[in-house]
Amino acid sequence: MLVVKKFGGSSVADKERIFNVARRCIEDYEKGNDVVVVLSAMGKTTDGLIAKAHEINPNPPKRELDMLLVTGEQVSVALMAMAMSSLGVPAVSLNAAQVVMHTSSAYGSAKLKRIDAERIRHELESRRIVIVTGFQGINKYDDFTTLGRGGSDTTAVALAAALHADVCEIYTDVEGVYTADPRVVPNARKLAEVSYDEMLEFASLGAKVLHNRSVEMAKKYGVKLVVLSSLTRAEGTIVKEETKVERTLISGVAADASVARISVLGVENKPGITFRVFNLLAKNHINVDIIIQSVTEPGKKDISFTVAKTDLSDTMDLLRENRESLTAREIVSEEGVAKLSVIGAGMCSNPGVAAKMFEALYSADVNTEMIATSEIRITALIDERDVKRAMRAVHDAFDLAD
Ligand code: ADP
Ligand code: ASP
Ligand code: MG
Repeated sequence: MLVVKKFGGSSVADKERIFNVARRCIEDYEKGNDVVVVLSAMGKTTDGLIAKAHEINPNPPKRELDMLLVTGEQVSVALMAMAMSSLGVPAVSLNAAQVVMHTSSAYGSAKLKRIDAERIRHELESRRIVIVTGFQGINKYDDFTTLGRGGSDTTAVALAAALHADVCEIYTDVEGVYTADPRVVPNARKLAEVSYDEMLEFASLGAKVLHNRSVEMAKKYGVKLVVLSSLTRAEGTIVKEETKVERTLISGVAADASVARISVLGVENKPGITFRVFNLLAKNHINVDIIIQSVTEPGKKDISFTVAKTDLSDTMDLLRENRESLTAREIVSEEGVAKLSVIGAGMCSNPGVAAKMFEALYSADVNTEMIATSEIRITALIDERDVKRAMRAVHDAFDLAD
């Protein structure tokens, strides 16, 4: 069997944890399996590197930032290979340039395009455990790139797909995927199984337990994905195409505070203006989520929408440069907001879900500013300070606890 095992930052945070991971990998290896290990940077290393960069330059060139960030993962893979070697097991660490993991050129948010599997296969044939840096790639200029925060999950799934692995195990600091973030909602329930589509909604709407592109890729290539704890032996959550568990209305609640709201105020209320706004954003590769339009005074309207906080300053610059052609009186932004979503493939045919969610928010005295729905989610934009209270209230209202 070929197994890809990915361990996140907290699972390799210190010497004890590194040896814990080394032993768990060696267990698999000693059963005769081929073992490929993907690691994140130790603990909060990536946050530390970003802070360091900003001390030197508040707006660091993206290429140089990636050059810095990739060092975090190289530390953990090298130390892991040393740990395994000290336990008497042959292991080799490889970075993205050595593998090679080819990505698009977008520094900071590169997409994996192709993986050369020969080197890894060769090392596996020599009966070595292969330890690969997560989160990083190489672009067409032979520069290092990174895949976006949390991107090591995607490295693992991509390797599992390229190597036709039997399973891709994502080890983290909780025991699987829960009905809500177990750190915010202590009585959240662990899901035995979750479908790719629901998991994709969870991941895209803020449940950072899996990087959303890793789920997309697992679905595309049919990779069997399991989320489990590196610290306990509890059974984890299986992510797969269809789940045999009886469909419940709602599978969970997620929150995302990494968004900001932008309002383009007082534009002319005539055909084509809305198109101009969103066409401008699309051409500049800026993703927009919740959108709302309202007529405020005769002949004028306001257009509001959310973007990722990391896109906020670029988006504001772009809109302000084009303020006149957009006929806008003013463009304003607000960072203290968060998206709160309920997710469930069973909700599309049930009109009661929205009412129940808003009743719960009302009872918890949480104001909703904007709302978006799809077949399998309802999202409300709320004040960032209300997130925890809102999440618990909605989780309770849908009886999601054990
Ligand atoms: P890693 O460093 O292992 O990649 P992450 O911090 O990226 O770990 O993801 C794990 C965290 O995701 C958990 O500690 C938990 O707080 C959070 N999380 C958010 N939503 C969920 C959820 N629905 N189920 C499980 N964990 C969740
Ligand atoms: N180390 C990277 C991050 O902190 C990648 C990851 O952990 O998946 O975002
Ligand atoms: Mg992660």
